[in-house]
Amino acid sequence: MKNTKIIPYDTTLRDGAQDPRARLSVAKKLAIAKRLDKWGMPYIEGGWPGANEIDTEFFQEAKGLFQHSQLVAFGMTARIGVKPENDAGLNMLLKSETKVVTLVGKTWLQNVKLTLRTEGLPNLETIRKSIEFLTKEGREVFFDAEHWFDGFSQDPQYAMAALEAAKESGAAALALCDTRGSCTPEFIYRATRFAKKRFPDMQFGIHAHNDGGLAVINSVWAVKAGVTQVQGTINGVGERTGNVDLCVVLPTAEFKYGLKSGLDMQQVFDVAHFVAKQNEIPVPANNPYTGKNAFRHKAGLHAAGQQRDPESYQHIDPNLVGNTISFVQSEQGGSTNVEIMAKKHGFDLSRNNPAFTRLVEEMKKLKVLGDAQEFLLLHKFLGSEVEPFDVLVGSRVTDTRGQPPEAYVKVRVNGSIHEETAFGDGPINAFDLGLKAALLQKYPQVKDILVDDYTVSLPQTGGGSAAEVEVYVRLKAGGTTWTSRVRGTDQQRTGEDALIQGYKYYLLKQI
Ligand SMILES: [Zn+2]
Repeated sequence: MKNTKIIPYDTTLRDGAQDPRARLSVAKKLAIAKRLDKWGMPYIEGGWPGANEIDTEFFQEAKGLFQHSQLVAFGMTARIGVKPENDAGLNMLLKSETKVVTLVGKTWLQNVKLTLRTEGLPNLETIRKSIEFLTKEGREVFFDAEHWFDGFSQDPQYAMAALEAAKESGAAALALCDTRGSCTPEFIYRATRFAKKRFPDMQFGIHAHNDGGLAVINSVWAVKAGVTQVQGTINGVGERTGNVDLCVVLPTAEFKYGLKSGLDMQQVFDVAHFVAKQNEIPVPANNPYTGKNAFRHKAGLHAAGQQRDPESYQHIDPNLVGNTISFVQSEQGGSTNVEIMAKKHGFDLSRNNPAFTRLVEEMKKLKVLGDAQEFLLLHKFLGSEVEPFDVLVGSRVTDTRGQPPEAYVKVRVNGSIHEETAFGDGPINAFDLGLKAALLQKYPQVKDILVDDYTVSLPQTGGGSAAEVEVYVRLKAGGTTWTSRVRGTDQQRTGEDALIQGYKYYLLKQI
């Protein structure tokens, strides 16, 4: 029977922590794990207890915290010649008290000889004894067959003997690892079929690295060959070129191959950006599904085609993965973009409208537009010119050494003046809190507004003029999210403008 089901297994907190850019504190690891649990991730590999203090502490803190996910502790087989009960690493695994333990062991004979400096048989014996030790203690053991595909290509007999040792000693799953990311999908498929035929009742997993740019397709082909467990990381973080990106492989498997994981794909965008914020590794703008540009259209011709037929330049509906369609203003863009935006925001606009040409000109001047800028411009030309508030003083942020920055914000709402000061984590956060406090009296609903993402980038402009910055803000309140994008030369000022316009958008939408 053909396999059509995927059981995702997340290793962002263990293999993903090998990414040179990753800096994960216990608190951040817990935050990521909780988000994954909320998503319904079946397995979360939390780290390697005993390998460092953070991982050891994480397992203490994480006990009993999850509702949907099974927390997994990771470790390796006992050291050669050491009895499992005397092995410090295996004992740390027991101490972490997780029901499931993943044990990595060597399956490539060359690697056994050169790095473990032992012969084939003692290694097999160690695999067997280590797994037996843990299963006797009531643990469910997944065996990560390190370098399994490399081993299979060089010495299939030994690679299979290692799997057999793991299976016989009670392993509940065998995860086949493309540790160096060296394999092609054709080989992965062939080797996996071979192993699956030998042990048809065994649960198999795939652990693919992306060194050849093939991690997604290798994982999918392994599933087609009979694997159910797909190990990977959020945003593909990991050492070198990283592990397979679960936020890419899962939507690809589901939407292109009909292989479902049972996870809600509409949360993919949110999970990716949540994790990016925690581990401070941004999602590449051009990442499939989760990149900010994944459904962003620039050229006028594309925008026109896109409006006539939404499928013309998009491979799937962005809502399926929680992303949104957007358009970039450019010289090529024009009348069609304005029509699309008017429609998106519910304005009735025909090309005969006298405001149409001016609107097109104004839009071109802005260069970048988020939801807030689109709406405010349409509101100005087609709605009323009344805005919910004016900021009279906003930029007076004092950043005293060693003290958190303090912002003084003064606003005018319907002729009355409100002023507040607020301390923040940074100058923008101080301004955000000050603005919120100043508006609260007249607009209590602003208390729900949260800054979901705040990114400053340097746009690639041709001119040699003063450096421009672009601020992208994603705000949310209740169940809705919206964006605000502004370019300017002063970073603080540009960030404040992006927030102000984001707040105005929210208030105007409610009126
Ligand atoms: Zn790995």
